Amino acid sequence: MLISPSTRALWSLAAKNLFFPIFCRNCRERLLTEENGYFCPTCWEITERIEPPWCPRCGRPHTAMVGLGNRRNFLCSDCRDTPPDPIGRIYGTALYEGVIADAVQALKFEDKHRLAGPLGETMTQFAATWMDLAGYDLLVPVPLHRVRQRERGYNQSTLLAEACEGAFPNAHVCEALKRIRPTRTQSTLAGVKRAENVRGAFAALGDGFENQRILLIDDVVTSGGTVIECARALMRAKAQSVDVLAVALVEHRAARNR
Ligand SMILES: [Zn+2]
Ligand SMILES: [Zn+2]
Repeated sequence: MLISPSTRALWSLAAKNLFFPIFCRNCRERLLTEENGYFCPTCWEITERIEPPWCPRCGRPHTAMVGLGNRRNFLCSDCRDTPPDPIGRIYGTALYEGVIADAVQALKFEDKHRLAGPLGETMTQFAATWMDLAGYDLLVPVPLHRVRQRERGYNQSTLLAEACEGAFPNAHVCEALKRIRPTRTQSTLAGVKRAENVRGAFAALGDGFENQRILLIDDVVTSGGTVIECARALMRAKAQSVDVLAVALVEHRAARNR
């Protein structure tokens, strides 16, 4: 009997799990397969995914009360008070909390780069449900500064872009941006300082962005300062449009206080 490579891989994972059991990071239940590898299926779905009614600019969900009556396309109060920027629209699969926040942190800070697979799958499902998949030419990961990338060994946004690339039939991953100076971690800074911290920090690499419809990929959007600066660099390079897809969005109030 011929055994396919995928069957063999499953058996070897099962055998590994028998001798080195793995547990859900959230509920500590033993995981029976390595399908996700870090969370059981129940915990993985615990964090609510974002769906309409939502703000058509920043992608944050409206509360059910505000969204009643199917008024789906109105800006949230924060976006009404914010000056225009070059981003068409920000999409995020969930608010930055619970299991999703834990998974993003593990991907970024604990070297758990295999989490890019399930997180990318979450982005793929979201995109297939709510986005115009054929409407993008390039998936551009938000870059790390080369020093940080060397320390970490990978850019989590590139891993996420690669993991959801298959969902976008006309687009491919292109590391089109470069951080031209190091910046401090945005979450360590108060609101106004964040915009200063990242201003002019990015440049597009080479050319070939003319008339391109770009989807920026990031792990978390906090105040939006980083993705706005990335979009400015891409628009300077003559891109046609820039949208953003992130795993998670920090709520406006939390973003201001972080
Ligand atoms: Zn669990
Ligand atoms: Zn908004």
